[in-house]
Amino acid sequence: MNIDINTLLRENIRNLKPYSSARDEFSGDAAVFLDANENPYNIPWNRYPDPHQRILKKKVSEIKNINVQNIFLGNGSDEPIDLLFRAFCEPGRDDVVSINPTYGMYKVAADTNDIRVNLVSISEDFNLDADLVLSAVTPHSKIIFLCSPNNPTGNALNKDSILKIINTFKGIVVVDEAYIDFCPENSLLADLDKYPNLVILQTFSKAWGMAGLRLGMAFASELVIDVLSRIKYPYNLNILTQQKALELLGDEKSMRGWVEIILKERELLVEKFKTYPFVIKVYPSDSNFVLVQVYDPRGIYQYLVDEKIIVRDRSSVALCEGCLRISIGSPEENAILTEALDKLI
Ligand SMILES: *Cc1c(COP(=O)(O)O)cnc(C)c1O
Repeated sequence: MNIDINTLLRENIRNLKPYSSARDEFSGDAAVFLDANENPYNIPWNRYPDPHQRILKKKVSEIKNINVQNIFLGNGSDEPIDLLFRAFCEPGRDDVVSINPTYGMYKVAADTNDIRVNLVSISEDFNLDADLVLSAVTPHSKIIFLCSPNNPTGNALNKDSILKIINTFKGIVVVDEAYIDFCPENSLLADLDKYPNLVILQTFSKAWGMAGLRLGMAFASELVIDVLSRIKYPYNLNILTQQKALELLGDEKSMRGWVEIILKERELLVEKFKTYPFVIKVYPSDSNFVLVQVYDPRGIYQYLVDEKIIVRDRSSVALCEGCLRISIGSPEENAILTEALDKLI
């Protein structure tokens, strides 16, 4: 499919001349740096970080098997979400399409950018109807947001439906794969180069256990990545994040081990939850959390708070009536949870 990303862009973004930092204008080796008004003392914190995150990007490129030109690194995946609105959506005029229920940040970013969101409900069993999503597209729709596995429902969306949307929509399709390391077979990343309008979001906050470092990724065609890079804050990833992430990314084995334990624990917890008389339904999960429908969600939530265990009350969310969203913890944490719930029988 032929999509001209340039004509999709807001005019001011198309014409934008990005800030050029001192380190952009000289990137070779030197002994004395007097170009950025840095302080010569307090080494190494005195230096600005690499605005292009070259070393970290190369590492991510190796891990994900994606060219560096197709990678954007941000302050969490929340950063590329906001940048996509700023790049493509004219405030007060354009709109985006999003499924309902889904991750709350798309709506927050839309609201801060004064962009309308056309919500399309997923089905009762949390599946995606491509035609329904496409029917919500208006002449001013610039982005469709999909989330797979979806939050808070936990399930991966049907791949064929996602591909139909990407192949049909004449705008940007964002597929948020924050939980993809828990079901890698569902990722679209290997097919990225087939779809110039596809933006895949991933993060190091979940399976990699780096939520505190704030490091998210967007994968897309070179044109889209160039735009995001031009409009980001020049130093969006600080030195500590870049260095620590590089170090932790050297240990992919630990991540795989954690995922394995979490998936095993998820199955045990699901079986356990199903035995509780106060549980109505445990929804199937492809992620590191499960959505559990219970008779008295407020009561159980409050009981767990009193036991110093915090879960997420999603009972007022569309299609999630009576539901608590429960993250899979360590075996020890999960035992504390089930011991507390056992006392409720
Ligand atoms: C947790 C989560 C993220 C991660 O956001 P970061 O800003 O990278 O921490 C993104 N999308 C969804 C759907 C999530 O649940």
